[in-house]
Amino acid sequence: MQSRMVALESLLKMHKILKCLGCDTYTIKENCPKCNNKTTNPKPARYKSEDKYSKYRRQYKEEMKNAMDS
Ligand SMILES: [Zn+2]
Repeated sequence: MQSRMVALESLLKMHKILKCLGCDTYTIKENCPKCNNKTTNPKPARYKSEDKYSKYRRQYKEEMKNAMDS
């Protein structure tokens, strides 16, 4: 599940992939091939807020390292 999301996000960055507002289908077309709704460029909000948590991520990394060593 998690790795699938990561793969999807890298796909979104590589290509101009759009997401249907109606049925959440991913497509490169401006209109959904399934329901003909307008599609929009999905922006993962996760990247924006990532800096805010960098301190905690570093901390987490350290803890992981210590856990591996012991
Ligand atoms: Zn659709």
